Amino acid sequence: MSTLEIHDLHVSVGDKEILKGVDLVVRSGETHAIMGPNGSGKSTLAYAIAGHPKYTITSGRVLLDGEDLLDMSVDERARAGLFLAMQYPVEVPGVSVSNFLRSAVTAVRGEAPKLREFAKDLKNGMDALAIDSSFATRNTNEGFSGGEKKRHEILQLELLKPKIAVLDETDSGLDVDALRVVSEGINRFRGSGDTGVLLITHYTRILRYVKPDFVHVFANGRIVEEGGPELAEKLEDEGYEAYTKAAH
Ligand code: ADP
Ligand code: MG
Ligand code: MG
Repeated sequence: MSTLEIHDLHVSVGDKEILKGVDLVVRSGETHAIMGPNGSGKSTLAYAIAGHPKYTITSGRVLLDGEDLLDMSVDERARAGLFLAMQYPVEVPGVSVSNFLRSAVTAVRGEAPKLREFAKDLKNGMDALAIDSSFATRNTNEGFSGGEKKRHEILQLELLKPKIAVLDETDSGLDVDALRVVSEGINRFRGSGDTGVLLITHYTRILRYVKPDFVHVFANGRIVEEGGPELAEKLEDEGYEAYTKAAH
């Protein structure tokens, strides 16, 4: 059982305050959707939790199982059980997917997985995500299509088994088939009940496949409405207009 707690989080980029007091609690076994218009601060929340240096925490607290995440280096956050899938994953030239993933597992566990065990987990994960075996020898993220990047993210989830997974725009740029495969991957992963998922998205369509337990609407750096899965349906019908007007 794990808990991510965010208390009154304020985050700035340069002189500009972007998050203006965010409160959120995510427990293992729960899926929370963060939804909101472009520019509302959703990715800023993800980067701030991950420890991206550009995002300054001006006040507030973020705890994982009672431990202060904001005191930890990026590596320590990963070892503590936090996983962040970036909206724009970076290329890692000269490092194969297989080596990248084995290094990531080693970093998180603090010891290298046995080669044979890792190869088996990798193959199972790739099969489940309908990824061709040649993918493992390609350079990480180099020339990946949108769908390959997202499958790679979900593959990381399955291998790293984090306590809390933050997925930012995992649905963007996916065609319907890829969306289904990626959604099934998330569902398989969260089905264990050991992980809490924070699913950040602008669009409602992934929420038809990955049913959230809670929905939080972001506008202008704050959570302005919260509810259950029915809130995603309301947003699908009505959009964000009512919130963007009220927030300014
Ligand atoms: P969302 O993910 O909801 O679209 P973002 O968190 O990306 O929103 O952005 C929120 C606001 O913060 C926007 O006005 C954006 O321009 C600004 N912002 C975010 N990151 C940066 C950055 N690295 N440098 C400058 N401005 C940024
Ligand atoms: Mg954006
Ligand atoms: Mg974003």
